Amino acid sequence: MPSRPYKPAAQKTLKTAIGCSGIGLHTGARVSMTLRPAAPGSGIVFQRSDLSGDAALVPATWRHVVDTRLCTALGNAQGTRIGTIEHLMAALYGCGIDNAVVEIDGPEVPVMDGSAAPFVFLIECAGTVEQAAIRQGIEICREISVVEDDSYMSISPGSGFSVGFEIDFGDNAISRQSCELDLGRGGFKADLSRARTFGFVQDIDRLQAAGLARGGSLDNAVVISGNRILNDEGLRYDDEFVRHKMLDCVGDLYLAGAPLIGQVTAVRSGHRHNHSLLSALFADPTAYRYVDLADSATLPGRLASGYGALGLGAAD
Ligand SMILES: [Zn+2]
Repeated sequence: MPSRPYKPAAQKTLKTAIGCSGIGLHTGARVSMTLRPAAPGSGIVFQRSDLSGDAALVPATWRHVVDTRLCTALGNAQGTRIGTIEHLMAALYGCGIDNAVVEIDGPEVPVMDGSAAPFVFLIECAGTVEQAAIRQGIEICREISVVEDDSYMSISPGSGFSVGFEIDFGDNAISRQSCELDLGRGGFKADLSRARTFGFVQDIDRLQAAGLARGGSLDNAVVISGNRILNDEGLRYDDEFVRHKMLDCVGDLYLAGAPLIGQVTAVRSGHRHNHSLLSALFADPTAYRYVDLADSATLPGRLASGYGALGLGAAD
């Protein structure tokens, strides 16, 4: 029997159900959402409360991604759809929630303020509870990359979960931004959760004329016109744009079904690349393995708040 120097981490769910309501960014429709506790090993599952039976259920996994234009949308074999799941998924990742049922009475997660902060607030209000099952992570064993036109994305072996992101929007208020964070050591709430989605005023006009982004407004997006930011309150982070792209990436990658242990590098990538990266990763059984995670409180030194795999890191 291999020795296990650290206490295993337990899976977590919500302590109690909690709800909110808001509008969908793309449909503009008002929706109510309730986050509910779920059994160990069940993962994150969306449930449409306006439908019944199997048609109502959509597991939050990369295999259920049906659309990556403008947002990430999930669907099932019955044609049921849940759009704009990425900010909520990022909050669930950031709060360490393994198992939850997300009940929604419409086809899109409410956009709230365009960030993940309102969802973190909801989860914190509900509280979390440890469950009688060991938390597993997906350890990257060799590099997987996706290259498409001028976009690039890779995930390579590494302890913890770090994301390095670079965007280049040319000559406007966004311009060029880059940011790197180690999220396995916490920091999601402070460093990423408040970053809002963004758009150019001319694109929003065009999308709304096409019946999209109907719910988009200065209340739930940073709106840019050339070198100007139209929101009176300005930005929440100096580099809010790249941080929002990182937030999207973290939420999309949580569709892996468990926390990833590795280093993500992303250049000008978006929802489509996040999905392509997971598809490529899971297509190669030598590129990853499931590992039991250690309780961070029992890990020493540099691993202290990271994703220590049980038995790994003991030598340093
Ligand atoms: Zn987003």
